[in-house]
This record gives sequence, C-alpha cells and structure tokens, in this order.
Amino acid sequence: MTELIDSDALRAKYRTERDKRLRTDGNDQYIQPTGRFAHLLEDPYVARVEREPLFDEVAVAVIGGGFSGLVTAARLKQAGIDDVRIIEGGGDVGGAWYWNRYPGAMCDTAAMVYLPLLEETGHMPTRKYVFAPEIFAHAQRIATHFGLYANAALSTQVTSLDWDEAASQWIISTNRGDRMRAKFVTMGTGPLHRPKLPGIDGIETFAGHSFHTSRWDYGFTGGDPAGAPMVNLVHKRVGIIGTGATAVQCIPRLARDAGELFVFQRTPSSIDVRNNHAIDPQWFETLEPDWQQQWLTNFATLQTGGFTEEDLVHDGWTDISKRIRDRVVADLGAGAEFTPETMLKAYEASDDDKMTEIRARVDTVVDDSATADALKPWYRQLCKRPCFHDEYLQAYNEPGTHLIDTDGKGVERIDESGVWARGMHYDLDCIIFASGFEVGTEASRRSGFETTGRHGLTLGKYWAEGMHSLHGIHVHGFPNLFVVGPSQGANLISNITQNLTEAGATIATIIRHAIDTGADEVEVTEAAEDSWVRLLEGSERSFLGNPDCTPGYYNNEGKPIGRRERLNGSGYPEGPVAYWSYIDRWRNSGEFAGIEFR
Ligand code: NDP
Repeated sequence: MTELIDSDALRAKYRTERDKRLRTDGNDQYIQPTGRFAHLLEDPYVARVEREPLFDEVAVAVIGGGFSGLVTAARLKQAGIDDVRIIEGGGDVGGAWYWNRYPGAMCDTAAMVYLPLLEETGHMPTRKYVFAPEIFAHAQRIATHFGLYANAALSTQVTSLDWDEAASQWIISTNRGDRMRAKFVTMGTGPLHRPKLPGIDGIETFAGHSFHTSRWDYGFTGGDPAGAPMVNLVHKRVGIIGTGATAVQCIPRLARDAGELFVFQRTPSSIDVRNNHAIDPQWFETLEPDWQQQWLTNFATLQTGGFTEEDLVHDGWTDISKRIRDRVVADLGAGAEFTPETMLKAYEASDDDKMTEIRARVDTVVDDSATADALKPWYRQLCKRPCFHDEYLQAYNEPGTHLIDTDGKGVERIDESGVWARGMHYDLDCIIFASGFEVGTEASRRSGFETTGRHGLTLGKYWAEGMHSLHGIHVHGFPNLFVVGPSQGANLISNITQNLTEAGATIATIIRHAIDTGADEVEVTEAAEDSWVRLLEGSERSFLGNPDCTPGYYNNEGKPIGRRERLNGSGYPEGPVAYWSYIDRWRNSGEFAGIEFR
C-alpha cells in the first residue's frame, strides 16, 4: 500500500457514518413475518404429505437436518449407533441450503474446507467456491451415504422438547401430532434461518408482488436456482431492499434479467475479489488420504493468526488474518512490546490498508463516480460480514440498474405502488426483501420450540442472561441433550461446518460411551459448567464486533454489548485450533471430565 492513510481522519469518518445509522430500536426495527407475510415461514418447495403421527422411541433424535444434524448423525453412524432419526422442518435435509435458493447463492468459504465429509463421501467440489445447488446436493449425499433418510421425519417441525424424569428420556412433540421418545437428543437448529423483515411503515400495503430471498419465488420471476434467466422479469420494475451478503450474490443476476432494478441501500457491504475457478480433477486425484483434515487445520490456523508452511485455501479470509499477523510480527521486529495494544494497533493498521484497497477497487470497476462513491464502505472490514464477488460491483454498470443510496437512513415508507426513499417515490412491480435472518433473539423464537429440562426449567429461562454450557455442547439440568453449534466451543466463524463436524465427533464419542457402559443419563456437573463459563468470560475473544462499528448483527445492531451477548458469542480463549486439540484429548482420554454418566 503506497497511499498514506490519515488514520485519525479515517476513524472520524467511520464514526460519522456509524452515527448516521445508530437507532434506538436496535434489533426491534425488524419484524417477524406474520399476517400477509406468514407464508414466508412455510415451505414452498414440497407439498405436505399426510402421515400417521409417530409415538415410537429412538436411541438418538437429531433435531435439525442442516449440516449440524447431518454431520452429527454421520459421526453417530460411524460410531456404530444406528438408531438415529433426523427431525427437520424442511422437506429435505440441507438447512440453510435447503431454504436459500436465490439466484447466485453460493458459499463464501472455499468448498474444500466448507463442504463436510468430502473424503468420506468421495465428492470433488466443482469449483473453489461452489453454488448453492451443489451444497444442497452434498447435504443430500451425506444423508444418502450414511443411510439417514430411512428413519428421518422430514417436513416435521418440533413444537416442544420435554425431559421425562421418570423414564430418563426426551419427549419430542411436533406439528404432525408426533410424541416420539428419544434417549438422547442433539440440537442443531442454527442461528440464521428464520427470515426477518424490515419494520418499514406501510410494508403490508404494497399491492405488487413481494418475497424474502430465503423463499425465492421462481414462479413469479421465472428461471431456477441453477441460473436460468428469470424471463418473467424482463418487463418488470424490481426493487430489492438490503445489500448484505445475500443481496450481493443475487443482485448481479437481477441486474442481468430485470427490466429495471432498484437497489435500496442503507449500508454498503465491503466487496473483495472472489477469484473463483474450477477444480482440476487431475490435481484433486493427487491429494493424499486425510487431506481434508490437513486443509481444515491449515485454514483454521491461518484464520487465527498462526503460521503454516503454505496457505492451502489462499483467499480473502486468510488474507485478512495473515495481514494482521504479519503486521504484528513487523511491529515486534521494530521493537514494539507484545501487548494487547500492539495487537490492536497492528489490527487497525492492516484493516485501514485493506479497506482503502476495497474502496479503491470500487472506483476501478464502477463507471459512474457518484454510484462508486455511494458503494464505498466506511467501517472496519469485520464490522459486517465481509463479501467477496467478481460481478457485484460490475452490476451497477448495467443501464437498467439503479443504486438508491439512502445515506444510512434506509427505506422511508412503502405504499401500494412502491417504495419511498430520500423523499422520492419508486414505482415497483415487485419488492424483494434481502433483509436477513433473526440473530440475537431468544433461542425458542428462532427454533420454534421450547426445551424443558429437569424440574420444569426451560432453556429459554436458563439462558435468559446468556448461554451457559460446557464446550458449547452440554447444559446442566438438561441431561442427554447435546447442542451443536460454534458458540462456547471453537467459534470459528469463517468456517462454521468445521465447528459442527468436530462437535458431532465429540457427541458420538460420549453417546457411544454411555451406551457401552449402560448409563441412563449423561449430564455436565454444575461446577464444570461454571468453570467453563468463567474460562470464556476471562477472555476478550468473542465473535461480537466492536461497539464503534456501524450497526449490524455482528455488534448487536449498535446497542451496548452486555454479558448476555458476550456469552452467546464467546469461544475458547486460545482460539479454535487450540480448542480442537484440547477437545480431541478430552474425548479420547475416556475420562470425560466434568460429565457424569449415571
Ligand atoms: P443481513 O442481515 O446481512 O443484511 C440485511 C440487509 O438489509 C442489510 O444490508 C441491511 O442494511 C438491510 N436493511 C435492513 N433494513 C433496511 C431498511 N429499512 N432499508 C434499507 N435496507 C435495510 O442479511 P443477509 O441475508 O444478506 O445475510 C445474512 C447472513 O447470512 C450473512 O451475514 C452470512 O453470515 C450469511 N450468508 C452467507 C453467505 C455465504 O457465502 N456463506 C451468503 C449469504 C448469506 P444495514 O447493513 O444498514 O443494516
């Protein structure tokens, strides 16, 4: 970076841009899909097939058929536990990749590390970053490979999960009238799947067509998830509200197909280069057994400031962390002391460089200078989900694509015929809400059910002031229940599936041990849980961003970050690689310290 950066001026600009966006309602600015939007919670992809309710018993019920459930069930099968039932609200497995079929959907994390169990299933990703249909197909491949469909209850929404103290079993009630019993339950209900809508005045009055990106209406637009042109949009005026990671991926396709496209922007995303390419089958053939574990460790190590001989994934994620790491090393070499301040300074300086590059790139791609200016992000890169794309900025050079920048204010109002922004009215045939998913609201609201453990205690109440667990998996008072997710474990956000696959392995080892020893109940002691929580609280390492950031779900929408938010976003103090090494020793020691088997 040759350009000199006035870091004080930059920080002042960041604060001004943040202040424009701060609002008192935080997360409450969003509304749940009810009334005319209630269908956004339904499954448009499969017709409901009636079946008899289930009153049977399984060894392990796996709630959620996304990657959390799939990898856990796969690990259970590998451990020789066959009586496993996936229970999933969607009509198939896949979770986020079942619901999100919007045009251009893909994963920002390289497929070699993101797609779980590649070696076990014998799949070669087609590209460095793969599109959603391939990811969905891979989820189905895992289910087929491990025989998970046979006993699955799909299109089945859990309505409550209750511990039966007398029988030492869980009772699972569903919207199909089921009342199944399970000795063990794993819960992978994910944080980002319940669509939310912006609470814009008049949203319910729009007379045209509207939908949320997670329920893309190909019946209205034409086209398909594989990328066929959306022919029905050729003469339509389409508006899209939101410019987050989802919008960044579908806007290029909309710009290509819509008669006119109006993008209503409140805060621009940061768009770094993508550099996608096909994977060469001959090269793939040369990979040695256990290659995926090596790639995973390599990526996680680089992502968290460590050193490796080579950077196997070599992309925008590893670039961010290597820059910070190298800056720390340079500062230490120049005589700085190894203190949190040195780290912070290095982080800030490398971030200033990166964001300056990202803003400069906008000018090189976007023809119209006013549009280019409005597309520049003025915040630190990790304040919001970083985006990577090679067609997004280019889309604004399409003559029919209009960026309606609201200078941080957002859409003002929606009426029968369109959208009001910056005092202007835009007539529209269709509004697409790219407004994201519920994050930070109560777990039961997001999963759609409450979990009741010993003595009538609900998980919602137990976690009201923040998550409490051992390893992010075990919760005192909730025996034989295992939570599958990144929080309070490795918490590697740039590659969620690695957290899940490892959690699945831990859970399978514990359940195997319980079965082998004839234990009826498995539960973390209160003392072990407390000491884990203390360990997490003693660390600054947290997924939640800086309160100085522009608002978004990474920083509690700009509202103060309290103990609850910190606990919910916490991870092992020494980072993911250390966590996985620790948990590997813990589960292989056979002692399972902190867990009681009764
Ligand atoms: P986000 O929550 O990231 O984005 C919501 C968007 O809606 C923001 O741009 C927000 O603006 C905007 N918005 C909200 N209210 C208004 C309003 N009143 N007027 C105008 N704009 C408004 O949702 P996404 O679906 O984009 O992404 C959610 C998450 O899903 C990502 O962060 C990522 O974790 C995941 N994802 C991952 C992908 C991958 O590649 N792996 C791809 C896509 C999504 P503002 O920024 O100002 O709040």
